[in-house]
Amino acid sequence: MKYIGAHVSAAGGVENAPLRAHAIGATAFALFTKNQRQWVAKPLTEQSIEAFKHNCETYGYGPGQILPHDSYLINLGHPEIDKRQKSLDAFIDELQRCEQLGIDRLNFHPGSHLNLISEETCLDLIAESINFALDVTSGVCAVIENTAGQGSNLGYRHEHLAHIIDKVEDKSRIGVCIDTCHAYAGGYDLKNDYAGVMHDFEKVIGFEFLKGMHLNDSKAKLGQRLDRHHSLGQGELGWEPFSKLMADPRIDNIPMTLETIEPDIWPQEIAELKRLAHLT
Ligand SMILES: [Zn+2]
Ligand SMILES: [Zn+2]
Repeated sequence: MKYIGAHVSAAGGVENAPLRAHAIGATAFALFTKNQRQWVAKPLTEQSIEAFKHNCETYGYGPGQILPHDSYLINLGHPEIDKRQKSLDAFIDELQRCEQLGIDRLNFHPGSHLNLISEETCLDLIAESINFALDVTSGVCAVIENTAGQGSNLGYRHEHLAHIIDKVEDKSRIGVCIDTCHAYAGGYDLKNDYAGVMHDFEKVIGFEFLKGMHLNDSKAKLGQRLDRHHSLGQGELGWEPFSKLMADPRIDNIPMTLETIEPDIWPQEIAELKRLAHLT
């Protein structure tokens, strides 16, 4: 089954996210469980948690159809220990919020070396941080997102993600989320070589680790390493790779969410993806 949706707003409380997802015809959704630009957030209230669970049940969103995104401030591979610790504390809080909400996975960007340490050292630190976080939480899978490789962000090569997975002790609680815009900008030609990119993914990471996807077209060109999302069909990728994704049986039963730039047309984008997946 293809679960298709968008990153919806949680304004007014996380319990509003499933309502917004339902209103746009989504069968999956992403959300921030706290303000993504602040370090500290108030704990979720019991009332909010119950309402979230109730709304998810009412509209048919199971754990595997929801992929929260963590705060943009978190850098689990920060070269400075005090800043890395601050990120780790925030990451643990994010995992605990997912636990409370009954969500089984959390999406995050791997981290940046800030040109202060090597790529390899940074990837090792990220894995170490993940191991710490998984040790003190339970039930939530840490889902690393591939990046466009902008600045000193790691995660733009399948090998980066594989390196982290390799060093994480509990393989049952680590996975990846592939963002199509980031992949293309990072140098993976989903437009002209869909089969080749997927073959490389299979060989280097493996589909068993694929726990979510972000469906975005790209304003940036192939390998330009710039994170610039576009609406589906309107960027460098065009509709073809999305049509192939919707027909790819290796990619099933995971949340696939839009982070495209015009929320007003999300209902149409979702409807078209569903049509391509033969769901309507
Ligand atoms: Zn992201
Ligand atoms: Zn993304």
